[in-house]
Amino acid sequence: MSEPLISTVAVAGQAGYDPDLIERRLEGLFQVLDRPRIRPGRPPLALVKPDLEGFTSAGGQGTHPEITAAVARLLRARGYRVAIGESLDRNGGGRGDWRRRWGYQSVIDRDSLEVCNFNESPGVAVSVGPHRYYLAGPVGEADLVVSLPKLRFHPLNHVAGALSSLIDFIPTCHRPLVYRRISSPQTYGAVLIDLLYLIQPDITVLDAVGQVRDRGGVDRSVGPINRLIASTDPVAVDVVASQLTGLAPDRVASTRLAADAGLGNAWLEIIRLVGESRSALRRSYQLHRRNGAGQTISSGTAAVTEEPDLRPTIDIGRCTGCRDCVSACPTQALTVGGDCRPVVHAGKCIGCLSCHDCCRAGAVRAVGSTSALPQA
Ligand code: SF4
Ligand code: SF4
Repeated sequence: MSEPLISTVAVAGQAGYDPDLIERRLEGLFQVLDRPRIRPGRPPLALVKPDLEGFTSAGGQGTHPEITAAVARLLRARGYRVAIGESLDRNGGGRGDWRRRWGYQSVIDRDSLEVCNFNESPGVAVSVGPHRYYLAGPVGEADLVVSLPKLRFHPLNHVAGALSSLIDFIPTCHRPLVYRRISSPQTYGAVLIDLLYLIQPDITVLDAVGQVRDRGGVDRSVGPINRLIASTDPVAVDVVASQLTGLAPDRVASTRLAADAGLGNAWLEIIRLVGESRSALRRSYQLHRRNGAGQTISSGTAAVTEEPDLRPTIDIGRCTGCRDCVSACPTQALTVGGDCRPVVHAGKCIGCLSCHDCCRAGAVRAVGSTSALPQA
C-alpha cells in the first residue's frame, strides 16, 4: 500500500507589514520548505506572481508589496534572477496608476525589482482535454514559480486563496475566453484545477495578514487572521486558509476537485503543520455581511453553511463602459444600455459571477438576497 501524501504547511503569525519582520518570517517559512531547483549552466529565473487583481478602484485587497519584495530578496539571496509578474492592461485599465496607489512603485524602486507585464509578452497556448488556455509566457521560461495570493472571500469559490489566484497567470487579454465557460462554482473549480495542473507553482505564500474581506472590501469580512501561510502544496494552503476563515475545506469546490484529481492534499489530518496547532486552526470566526439596508448581519460561528445565492448589480458610477462583463457572460444576461453601461437581465442570469470576476473597475457588486445570507 502506498504511503499517503503528506504536505507541509508552514504558518507564521504576522501583524502588519514591517519589511524586516516580514523578511525574517518568510526566511523561517522558506527554511521549512526549501527545495532549490537551480539548474547549472544558466542564471535561474524565479517568476513571482503577487495578487494584484484583488485591488480595484473601489478598494479591496491584494498582496502587500512588502511581502512581494521580501520574497524577491530571499530568492535573490539563493541565486535567482527574479521577475515580478503582473497582468494589468498597458494603459492601466480602470486601475490607472496602480503601482503608486498600492505602494508597489516605492518597493520596485527601492529593491530594483524587475517587473514583467504578462500582457506584453507572448503567451503560451496549452490545452487540457478540450479546453485551451493562454498562459503568460514567463510561466514556461521560469525555473521556479512562486505564487503570492491574498486571502479574500470569493463569490463562487468561497475562498480566494492559492487556487483562485492561478487565474492571474492568464494575461487579462485572454481571460474572457475562460470566463465564458464559467457557469457555476463547479465549472469555476474545474478551470482552477486545469490551471493547477498546468502551472504547478513550486512555492505558494498566502498573505493572510489583517482582515479577510470580499474583493470590493465591504460585503463580507472576517478576522483579523494575521498569518503568513506557505507550502509547496497550494491545495494544502487553501485547506489551512479555509479553516482559518471558519469554512469547512470541502465547501470549497476547487479544493474538492483538486483532491479528487490527486493534485494536492485536502485532508487536514495528514497536513504537517509547522508553527500552528490544529486546535488554533479550528477556531471559529464570525462572518459578517451587509444586508440591503447597509446593516451588518452576523452569521454566528457556523460560517457559510449554504451555497451563496449572489447576483450582480452594476455600480454605474464606477463603470468605465469597457464591456468586458458583457463578453464574459455565458448566458447573454448582460446587454449594453442606452448610456453605454451594462444592464443585467435577471431572468437569464445564472449567478456565475464571471462578470464580477472580470470587472477591473470594481463596478460589479455581488449581492445576496437577505434570505440567502447566513442567519444569526
Ligand atoms: S461593469 Fe462591465 S462594462 Fe462596466 S467597467 Fe465593469 S466590466 Fe466594464
Ligand atoms: S450576468 Fe449573471 S450569468 Fe452573466 S456573467 Fe454575470 S452572474 Fe454570470
